[in-house]
Amino acid sequence: MSRPIRALIDRAAMSHNLGRVMEVLHRPRTGGGSDARPLVWAVIKADAYGHGIENAVAAFSQADGLAMLDFAEAVRCRHAGWDKPILMLEGVFGPQDLEACVQWRLWPVVHEVGQIVMLERAKLRQPLKVFLKLDSGMHRLGFDPGTYGSMYRRLVDLKAAGKVSDIAHMTHFACADESDGIDEPLAVFRNVVKGLPGEHCVANSAAVLRHTEAMLRVDADSDFGQASWVRPGICLYGASPLADMSADRLGLRASMTLVSRVLSVRVVRAGQGIGYSYLYRPSQDVRVAVVACGYADGYPRHAPCGTPVAVNGQLATLVGRVSMDMLTVDVSGLPSVNVGDQVILWGQGGPGIDEVAQASGTISYELMTAVTARVRRQLI
Ligand SMILES: *Cc1c(COP(=O)(O)O)cnc(C)c1O
Repeated sequence: MSRPIRALIDRAAMSHNLGRVMEVLHRPRTGGGSDARPLVWAVIKADAYGHGIENAVAAFSQADGLAMLDFAEAVRCRHAGWDKPILMLEGVFGPQDLEACVQWRLWPVVHEVGQIVMLERAKLRQPLKVFLKLDSGMHRLGFDPGTYGSMYRRLVDLKAAGKVSDIAHMTHFACADESDGIDEPLAVFRNVVKGLPGEHCVANSAAVLRHTEAMLRVDADSDFGQASWVRPGICLYGASPLADMSADRLGLRASMTLVSRVLSVRVVRAGQGIGYSYLYRPSQDVRVAVVACGYADGYPRHAPCGTPVAVNGQLATLVGRVSMDMLTVDVSGLPSVNVGDQVILWGQGGPGIDEVAQASGTISYELMTAVTARVRRQLI
């Protein structure tokens, strides 16, 4: 038998969450048209936030496109049968990637002048649709408002040269989880792209869920009536991007459940220590379950005593230090717990991933993407 830890992947939950996003974005459009919502990129970078690219391709079949950064993952999407658009969020890393964009029909983001130079020097069999990125204040990737126009004009020249087919406009928000967090950068974006034809592409999960109204107006405001795209990621996997609103309240369902089993149960006497450095020394006798899950599986080593864990469907708490392959749980209140019993570290039937993340001083994104290769993904 193999070690009992698994990441259970619920594709139906992923599809449901995508449906939730589309429902939130639905808008009645005067004059008809069935597709009355912004187009949705399902963001599947980092192996679909740890869920597996092929699972994402299947679960997000209703998305309008898939967005990622890794070229090998993009090719896996094509091999898995994904025929709709693919957006490469960091664009090309070298000239040979432009060839891959043509071959696999990938649309690169252009955020750096070097990427424009690569296009200018390339010989392409077919023109590429590109997403020009504006730095609207986050100061990570993209052109600042003062240079965006000149970069756009270089892309227009590339269009005339047959290397670019369409130019879309894109930006990313630093504080979309805050109530007034997108006002300023969105104004910067609107001002810079005003008068330039092309689709708009602006929002991550937090912007979609917190600033839905503004997102619905993005393309309505464009001078050219072009489509707009949003780019939700984390919410598709059933975690909340907003500190003050739970995944439950947002109508999202957990799509990753980390499960394992009890390896051993023992009583630790008052005053004795548990685990490395005797981090936890109970003041009374406690019953402890040792679980086959450690930081080498991706469970956060810095999860403190008190972090919730479900054993046999009942809530208990982590005690002692998380080690490489094991962690320990106080099951004093659960006398029936025994070797082989099921443990849910997070997900359906256990504590929410957001709760575990919060207890550990991190975010659900890090927990999902940190689940290591030795943890088998299993569909439910
Ligand atoms: C990761 C990413 C997203 C998705 O962000 P979430 O917070 O997971 O919704 C959107 N856009 C870009 C550019 C990203 O890198």
